Amino acid sequence: MRKLPQPLRHWVTWYLRLPLWLTGLTALCLVSSAIVLSQQPGAAQLPPISPTRIAAATVSPQKPKLGDTIKVTVPASGVTTSPSVAWKGKTYPMFQVNRDRYRALIPTTPIDKPGRMTLQVNTGSTQNITLNLRNRRFPTQRIWLPAGQDGSVSDDEFDRVNAFKQIVTPEKRWNGKLRRPNNGPVTSIYGVRRYYNGVFAGDYFHRGVDYAGNRGSAVIAPAGAKVAAIGYERNGFAVHGNWVGLDHGQGVTSIYIHLNRITVKPGDIVKAGQRIGTIGNTGSATGPHLHWGFFVHGKAVDPVPWRYKGFE
Ligand SMILES: [Zn+2]
Repeated sequence: MRKLPQPLRHWVTWYLRLPLWLTGLTALCLVSSAIVLSQQPGAAQLPPISPTRIAAATVSPQKPKLGDTIKVTVPASGVTTSPSVAWKGKTYPMFQVNRDRYRALIPTTPIDKPGRMTLQVNTGSTQNITLNLRNRRFPTQRIWLPAGQDGSVSDDEFDRVNAFKQIVTPEKRWNGKLRRPNNGPVTSIYGVRRYYNGVFAGDYFHRGVDYAGNRGSAVIAPAGAKVAAIGYERNGFAVHGNWVGLDHGQGVTSIYIHLNRITVKPGDIVKAGQRIGTIGNTGSATGPHLHWGFFVHGKAVDPVPWRYKGFE
């Protein structure tokens, strides 16, 4: 387009802005007359101004990647119902974290589809939040199993451990960053994918972190919790071996497997740093190590952001 001479361009700009100005002025007049009306003694009481939409929810991290826990908070003022966040057909409860805010924790894992994700926040009215769940490369492992052996967990063992992971209790028992559950070196990180006999296992990912501590070395609670479950190899936990399940509250749980000794009992309240057992190689373990799984609403999430940043 050819450029207009300078003064003409100036007037064209103002002419285009005129409707905006008029709208703005009208709005201003309405607001001031409303104020005048409400201040006049004896004038009819105006109904309180009702918000046309609820105050925006906040999300963190804003650029989540596979394995991240997504935190959604809303101001308590706009909440008129038991608030929740829905994603992919599952509903996650919101808990009141202080006088002013409610918060939900949404788990993501390596087997979620990266890309656009829409969270539906329901606080009495509904708002949608769209995020981009970023892809992430996880290390891979090639496992060769003899014919007829698939390394799978029996239905009964799976069901008993799975029931523990679904626990949601209202009291928040963790505070701040998680501690390291054992002093040994990390030998396998969260999210490692596998090929079994050369075939990619689409459902498999390493649902935790492995620590190769010495046999008998202390396994500690990384955060405050209630001991929600305990299992022993001799009672049919052929894969998990001796294990402890901790309930940190509000849908956050953790599991400690292949233990040698267990030093807590169901119902115990443990503090961060308190010993819950010792490292062993019970169940299906090639050598002494701790497998530590960390779950949000039953899904194994990457504990790294919980260890180094923390969630409140
Ligand atoms: Zn492991």
